[in-house]
Amino acid sequence: MDFSYFNQVSTPSYVIDERLLKANLEKLHGVMKETGCSILLAQKSFSHYGSYPLISKYLSGTTASGLFEAKLGKEYMGEKEVHIYSPAYKEEDFAEIMQVSDHIVFNSPTQWEKFKGMVADFSKKTQKKMSCGIRVNPEYAKVETECYNPCGLYSRLGVTKKVIDTMDLTGIEGLHFHTMCEQNSDVLAETLQVVEEKFSHVLPQMKWINFGGGHHITREDYDTNTLIKCIRHMQDTYGLKVYIEPGEAIALNAGFLVSTVLDIVENGRSIAILDTSAACHMPDVLEMPYRPEVIGAGKLGEKPYEYRFGGPTCLAGDIIGDYSFDAPLKVGDRVVFCDMAIYSMVKNNTFNGMPLPAIYRYSEEEGLILAKQFGYEDFKERL
Ligand SMILES: *Cc1c(COP(=O)(O)O)cnc(C)c1O
Repeated sequence: MDFSYFNQVSTPSYVIDERLLKANLEKLHGVMKETGCSILLAQKSFSHYGSYPLISKYLSGTTASGLFEAKLGKEYMGEKEVHIYSPAYKEEDFAEIMQVSDHIVFNSPTQWEKFKGMVADFSKKTQKKMSCGIRVNPEYAKVETECYNPCGLYSRLGVTKKVIDTMDLTGIEGLHFHTMCEQNSDVLAETLQVVEEKFSHVLPQMKWINFGGGHHITREDYDTNTLIKCIRHMQDTYGLKVYIEPGEAIALNAGFLVSTVLDIVENGRSIAILDTSAACHMPDVLEMPYRPEVIGAGKLGEKPYEYRFGGPTCLAGDIIGDYSFDAPLKVGDRVVFCDMAIYSMVKNNTFNGMPLPAIYRYSEEEGLILAKQFGYEDFKERL
């Protein structure tokens, strides 16, 4: 594949490579075709709606964490399904939520009791078919980072077996669980077993089950056969329609963040200051935390020329990571970070007056397109 666009874009910028996105979508579509399940884009991870026309050719629709994401899904993938789950809906948003959503998943008995009358009235008035579900917490997750564990101590996400057994489920058509993070299908199989242990008594009343996100389906070592077995098991045992709503898996490794070396300073080691910031442009590097891959670079000790990469903000901890290269870096060189389509542009910010990276798309048909460019006004208008 030709990546000469790395030298053609302005920096800093995100580039979404639709050739790579398409390869992911083909794999996901394969699972849909083989099982009859529906796969939705969780917009939390990736909301560049310029790529929604491509995504809508392969997936069943989008899922949202609130009104704005749901509206975006409706607006740009409108002929497809819009699902929504939120830890708590606001009354003033709810009419609009019903207008745009096909599935509404509630987080608690109180939220369900509060809104179920509105759903019934709206359906009667508009003839719009909506399906309501409840998120369950199976109290089982193999997520090591507590910040990403929806089944941790005192988790607010989903109802436990103890709570669901106190509920009147009349009108609830589906169960939703989301307990995984960047995991393979062995964890899904284990999780499903716990979901069945705890909730199989309500499954016969349900029409669908949503396996949530966190399935790393497009990762090279992902075991698709086990996923397919899990889907078929729920279809065959309970007659359920199965939904999956991955975020990461959809645009995994399908984008880059291209930056330029602004300066190289010395203090115990060589530190390259880039025109991109971990804190502003790839916050997961600090939050997760993790060290993003850089094209042509190795770990410390692998190659002779070593650099720490830092951002141009005043935050001492705005450090991206340590890297080694075959040749010395110099001011003006380009540095390309991998896997930057997901959880990047949806989370970026203008802290310290940092400019937001531009967004480019590359596709075979259209070549390189500058989709978005940001400037001083974008910084100013939020303050
Ligand atoms: C975050 C989230 C997803 C997507 O998760 P990924 O890890 O990006 O696959 C799906 N559903 C819900 C409810 C989520 O909170």
